[in-house]
Amino acid sequence: MTDNRTFLVVGAGQAGGWCARTLRSEGFEGRVVLIGDEAYAPYERPPLSKQALTGEAAVESAYLWPPDSWDGMGVELRLGWRVESIAPDEHTATISGGKTIAWDRLMIATGSRPRMLEVPGADLAGIHTIRTIPDIEAIRAQVAPGRTAVVVGGGWIGLEAAAAFRKLGMEVVVVEAADRLCSRAATPATSDYLLKLHRDNGVDVRLNCVVGRFDGDGALERVLLGDDSVVDAAIAVVGIGIVPNVELAESAGIETANGIRVDAFCRTSAPDIFACGEVTSQPVWGRLESWENAQNQGIAGAKSMLDAGEAYGEAPWFWSDQYDVNLQIVGIARDWEEEATRGSAANGAFITFYLTGGKIVGAVAVNNGRDLRFARRLMQAGATVTAEELADPAVKLQALLKR
Ligand code: ADP
Repeated sequence: MTDNRTFLVVGAGQAGGWCARTLRSEGFEGRVVLIGDEAYAPYERPPLSKQALTGEAAVESAYLWPPDSWDGMGVELRLGWRVESIAPDEHTATISGGKTIAWDRLMIATGSRPRMLEVPGADLAGIHTIRTIPDIEAIRAQVAPGRTAVVVGGGWIGLEAAAAFRKLGMEVVVVEAADRLCSRAATPATSDYLLKLHRDNGVDVRLNCVVGRFDGDGALERVLLGDDSVVDAAIAVVGIGIVPNVELAESAGIETANGIRVDAFCRTSAPDIFACGEVTSQPVWGRLESWENAQNQGIAGAKSMLDAGEAYGEAPWFWSDQYDVNLQIVGIARDWEEEATRGSAANGAFITFYLTGGKIVGAVAVNNGRDLRFARRLMQAGATVTAEELADPAVKLQALLKR
């Protein structure tokens, strides 16, 4: 029996790519159309602010699968197409240029865009964001040892860019508005660790500081900071967070709240319309900006479209690479009753667990991905643990999982 349904995936990033592929690998026999407004087949963004920025890896290494493999997978990949509107009742989508596509089920995986800095001169050449392959190519064309880069925003993107620029032999000034680094996702102790890490690596980190204006004759020449200091630089990277691309959903009357609201099955408020990835606001964890969520929610969403879904809602997991440090975080610890650290920063590897009511509510690991994996499993299982045993290197975390 042939399936003559069309499943349309809007957004060909990591979440959309995984969704389309999963529809096929799960045996869907109808049409799968994957539409993206970028010129590139689905790729992952983590390498962009790391190895692709330093040049250690080619940008092509970021592709999820070889760009020419989508046909063979049976996915109609349409690049450089933009969906302008969707009509939930009619089950149609209109593409730029006026073409209309009818769908039976729709997945919205439109992701997000960088938040822009609204100060004078923000549109000068030489001021970049880090989100796309062309962004990285533009920055790479300007980098050179000895040059100065101003990084606006001391979050994950900004700090990874700072580390990459230092690796390239550049001078780096990080301008962070808050009183600590990565305040959105990191605990204060983690922020302190990162501040020391970057200062030890020669980065000029300025906290409680903002950009007043960018200045230059056609292209960036200097950055005027809120404290009246001036940094001469021809390159700036702005990493001050993202804005979810909810407009398409909103104009179709789909419910949003800092993202498209979805349930644990990636269902939106409109029948037959699903959403996944960075654009969604999901139960328990809200809107997650992570590689892991883009992939796993994309897979979960595809299964839900096929009515074979399981409730999705894993504790978030993030990682970052800066200098010789691999940082991993599970959960988003905002408040906790107790904390326990295994290992030490002085030895270059440690993990700190945050606990409430005898349960792990989050953990941060530096060069210790192994223990973090156990922390994730303990947290996901809701295991009861004590701060003493977590801090005691003689106690095997594996054993805590088994009891
Ligand atoms: P990203 O993924 O872009 O790194 P984060 O939310 O992790 O996003 O980090 C953004 C950082 O930028 C935060 O530390 C935030 O305090 C900082 N920030 C936001 N607005 C400004 C601004 N106008 N100037 C400097 N820093 C800013």
